[in-house]
Amino acid sequence: MTINKDRFKKALSKQLVNAEPRTPQHALHTIASLVKEFSESNESKSPHKKQVYYFSMEFLPGRFIETNLLNLDLLDSCKEVLETFQYEPTEVFQSELDAALGNGGLGRLAACFLDSLAALGYSGHGMGLRYQYGLFKQKINNQQQVELPDQWVSDSGYAWEARKPDQAIVVRFGGSVHMSQHNDRLTFHLHNPEEIIAVPYQIPIFGYKNNQVNDLTIWRAESTPATSDITFEAYASTKRKAEEITEFLYPDDSHYDGKVLRLRQQYFLVSAGIQSILVDYLQNEGTLQEIPSKIAIQINDTHPTLIIPEFMRLLVDEHDLSWEEAWSIVLSTVSYTNHTLMNEALEKWPVFLVKEQLPRIFLIIEEINRRHCLDVEYRGLEEWESLNDLSIVTDDVIHMARLAVIGSHTINGVAKLHSTILKDELLKSFSIRFPERFTNKTNGISHRQWLLNANPLLTNFITRLIGESWKENPVNLTKLLKYTDDDAVLDELHAIKQQNKQRLAHKVFAKTGHQIMEHSIFDVHIKRLHGYKRQLLNLLHVMYLWDLCHDKPDAIKVPRTFIFGAKAAPGYLYAKRIISLITSVASQINEDPVTKGKIQVLFLPNYNVSQAELIIPAADISEQISTASKEASGTGNMKMMMNGALTIGTMDGANIEMTDLVSTDHFFDFGLRAQEVLAYEQNGQYDPREVFHQDRRLQKVLHRLVNGSLKGDQVAFQDIYYSLVENGDEYFLLKDFGSYVQAQNQVQELYLTPRTWQKKCLINISHSGYFSSDRTIAEYAKEIWHL
Ligand SMILES: *Cc1c(COP(=O)(O)O)cnc(C)c1O
Repeated sequence: MTINKDRFKKALSKQLVNAEPRTPQHALHTIASLVKEFSESNESKSPHKKQVYYFSMEFLPGRFIETNLLNLDLLDSCKEVLETFQYEPTEVFQSELDAALGNGGLGRLAACFLDSLAALGYSGHGMGLRYQYGLFKQKINNQQQVELPDQWVSDSGYAWEARKPDQAIVVRFGGSVHMSQHNDRLTFHLHNPEEIIAVPYQIPIFGYKNNQVNDLTIWRAESTPATSDITFEAYASTKRKAEEITEFLYPDDSHYDGKVLRLRQQYFLVSAGIQSILVDYLQNEGTLQEIPSKIAIQINDTHPTLIIPEFMRLLVDEHDLSWEEAWSIVLSTVSYTNHTLMNEALEKWPVFLVKEQLPRIFLIIEEINRRHCLDVEYRGLEEWESLNDLSIVTDDVIHMARLAVIGSHTINGVAKLHSTILKDELLKSFSIRFPERFTNKTNGISHRQWLLNANPLLTNFITRLIGESWKENPVNLTKLLKYTDDDAVLDELHAIKQQNKQRLAHKVFAKTGHQIMEHSIFDVHIKRLHGYKRQLLNLLHVMYLWDLCHDKPDAIKVPRTFIFGAKAAPGYLYAKRIISLITSVASQINEDPVTKGKIQVLFLPNYNVSQAELIIPAADISEQISTASKEASGTGNMKMMMNGALTIGTMDGANIEMTDLVSTDHFFDFGLRAQEVLAYEQNGQYDPREVFHQDRRLQKVLHRLVNGSLKGDQVAFQDIYYSLVENGDEYFLLKDFGSYVQAQNQVQELYLTPRTWQKKCLINISHSGYFSSDRTIAEYAKEIWHL
């Protein structure tokens, strides 16, 4: 699809000239409607290409306006017209609310993947849910996180979606399974199920200047229409039960909790999604047997795993295929991405819940499992540690990762280390049985979103130096390497960082009244709050510097601003307590006259995609300090590298591949290695008290948590103290503290020689092209989806 620039400008002008009301929101809706109109009249259906469906319970795109205009090459034209009619373009763009239908990295990855699929000209479709409320908005009151509902659809509707009621699908829950014999075949029928209508809403996804238009479909749950014999009360309750399915996003991405509503959400997504795919496919294409050559289905973590039995149900029960035929189609179509090794995040649905909500699906899972166990027995058991280790169903729970592995032709981790641990530890028995299924696909980020859109100053500078080709082919950023000793280039790079820091400082001042030291190091730690991400380790270092300000003020040679942004899952008490501690320490440090001009601490509430776009270009230091082996990949690390921050980080996730590219000379690495952490976890020989008793700095810092010198929730602070000193320090903070402080000292020393610092920034930018999600998607396309 090409939108003619002049026609677009004329059409937009015509609408804006009489626009009423003259608000930024109204202008935004006008632009979005025009873009949708132009794109629908030009829809580029390419029916003979293989179609990829990316199933994900979460998509976290943020705002679309600038992404879409950039991809359609209409950004400048649009700004021009807006200015002609006395609109402030940034005001119009920023009036769009973030679509926050995701928690963090996993949902953001899905959004970057859709962007790259379209940019590379593939026919890719996102399948997700249209939550009425996205991820909660965070406020901080009295040092406590307060969660507010996220009303991302305004009264005038969501600008980018189109409701498609004619493509609605029926999803069935509950009921009872009746079996009957037909000729030689057992057939299955669901009696008296609860029927829910799934209505799709489509959001267009535009490729970068290549005429590709893809889509993200998000499904909304609605009740079937009232019949004349139903009482008002009964209908109200039916409606309520239907609509609650897509009412809100579960605000936790790291703890599985077996809630029935979440199970209903998951099945609702996969059933609506796969049914609609089959309807579409059978209308336009060939036979069921050809599906694997026409369709690829990727499941983002285990959340959509029920697509495996649901796909089987449709093929066997509704299309009369034999089990073997159906299984071969499903297995050659579905592939699974694992996102976490952490036990508390692994999904294990209780059998009774699945039986009650999805009785036919349960029978299919049992049959898949029966055949799988037979196969293992047939091959001999020795490769399995025990039967308990291999079965999808054990102890009355269904292991979703096992079902996903058994029903997928390819299983991938999201960074080299993660894929290795997945294969050698978590799913070892399965990788012995199916070695050819396991592979790695290191995550990436859309450089269009995170560099072209978020950092126009740097984008234009790079283009002046090395031309345009890197925009299509981001590994060409390595062309920047010839400027690493060019003083003028390094000066300009520094100047751009400074302007981005000022842009952030102005925003922060306008919002909070805090005056950031614009010439300090901007030390940035932004991501979900979790024990393993170790915001607390960062804070212990801050508190240590606070002590230094009192004891040895000369030791702090460069002023520093520590910037935190993080939401805690509402039910994750420990994470919330860490937020309390950060905000308590922040307010005391910022008021202490001794720290003036030396250190400053900011907790910026409501971290989201739009904020990330503002903060990341301003970062000097990127904090990527997870306990080694715990962060599957990380993508925040990549975003900041691309924007010229230096990373202080552990050898974890994609950090390792960053150091492979730039070498540890251009990366502040520290801490235990993954193998050391895993060994301690197995042998239980780590005792934080030993570290504590040997380190005076730690004693002094931690003493504050229990001696009442910090204002705020004393119970919370004491709890944190005990978690570290007495309760085993699960995430090895004390163990890594010394080495972290050393690395932070190196940061300070390096900042004193600006030329060397700038050179390292340029080297990091130069090698960041590898982390474009275009590279990741090209790998999926070639090695998993066979496009
Ligand atoms: C990139 C991103 C994340 C993921 O950050 P990590 O550092 O990889 O955990 C989370 N939230 C938002 C809003 C993001 O943009």
